[in-house]
Amino acid sequence: MASKRVVVATSNAHKVVEIMSIIDIDGYEFVPLSQIGEFPEPVEDGTTFLANARIKARAAFENTGLASMADDSGIVVDALGGAPGIYSSRYAGEQCDNAANNAKLLSKLEGIEDRTARFTCAIVFIDSDGTELTAVESVEGSIDDHLHGEGGFGYDPLFLPDEYGGSRSMAELTMEEKNAISHRGRALRKVKEQLVARN
Ligand code: IMP
Repeated sequence: MASKRVVVATSNAHKVVEIMSIIDIDGYEFVPLSQIGEFPEPVEDGTTFLANARIKARAAFENTGLASMADDSGIVVDALGGAPGIYSSRYAGEQCDNAANNAKLLSKLEGIEDRTARFTCAIVFIDSDGTELTAVESVEGSIDDHLHGEGGFGYDPLFLPDEYGGSRSMAELTMEEKNAISHRGRALRKVKEQLVARN
């Protein structure tokens, strides 16, 4: 039987690479939205990771008519009242880059002892019949006082996951090590469990 195509609705190339390396479900073929066509990006005006993932998945589903899946994710820092949270990609401004976001986070935490934080990821999967499956998962850790590591993307060089001894940054892990513990890996595996259970 032919595989069912699922559009992966994210414009972040790093996330697409991670999602493609994690998600592997018999009977489903995952294809980045950019390979299907060019579509306007929806306005992400939800107030939660889940709401924003749903906005992206729904838009892709409506634009393509295909089963669609979207991720919304970010870093939640306790001492900053949960910031940057859903605003993680544009913490230092609309046109900012990872370096500016990391610099802002470091400066906001200067002199603050409580460094606890988590990455959170919401995944929304909309099947071709409109059925929605969701998962929201996190990885706990802390924010270091300097950047280290070359892998990953975004805030990875600042985030020390509790796993693997608590002193390696997410950017120092191999992709396999990151995927095994990451918010995105956990949420995708939860969605996979639900999909497998339906079939
Ligand atoms: P989104 O594309 O609106 O979901 O923005 C997610 C933002 O959160 C990214 O641009 C990164 O800044 C941050 N982020 C999410 N997941 C990760 C990760 O796995 N590592 C590092 N930063 C991440």
